[in-house]
Amino acid sequence: MRFDTVPMPPSVQERPRDQRGYPVPAITPWQGEDPQFALTDYGRSADCARNRLCSVCGTPMPAGPVWRVVGGTESAGIAEALAAGRSYRNLAPTLEGPGHRACMLYASMVCPYLARPNARRGTSAERPDELTAHVVRGAVRGTTGAVVGFADFEYAVTASQVLFRFLNLVEYLPHEVSDSHLDELRAELAARPATRGQDQPR
Ligand SMILES: [Zn+2]
Repeated sequence: MRFDTVPMPPSVQERPRDQRGYPVPAITPWQGEDPQFALTDYGRSADCARNRLCSVCGTPMPAGPVWRVVGGTESAGIAEALAAGRSYRNLAPTLEGPGHRACMLYASMVCPYLARPNARRGTSAERPDELTAHVVRGAVRGTTGAVVGFADFEYAVTASQVLFRFLNLVEYLPHEVSDSHLDELRAELAARPATRGQDQPR
């Protein structure tokens, strides 16, 4: 979807824009006047990790759950694990950092690079998450990605990369079409009107 057809979280409105007016994520490197949307900037990503900043809007994330956008492969892995009565665990590190719920719902609809299918599937023998088990029926097939909430995350800043790992899935919102999360985003923004710079209390 075009960025201007989706309600924009207040903290995203504060981001610098590219020449089309498209908001530029906090972890995106710039080359002169041109943001490099397909890339993740090492220094910016390390700054977000160390200071618990949202990778989309760059403002602080409060204690509690964090969200990310996953691609189709990982989304299918989550759906299959939950449908089979297992909770989901994927300890494979990713270059993509966490963000606010509203920011990730927004990004899932307007930013194709946040849904890269680069993650791997993982499972565990634990009990399914009762919060999300009802959502996954019918979502095992056909999902192109998902907005996923996790209770916690870890990070490592190596000499060349910033790696993230996400722990304890708390929310699973698969999307089959590009505007799947429009109503969810509207509800999130209405429920948590953010003040400028200091973001959603969650
Ligand atoms: Zn944010």
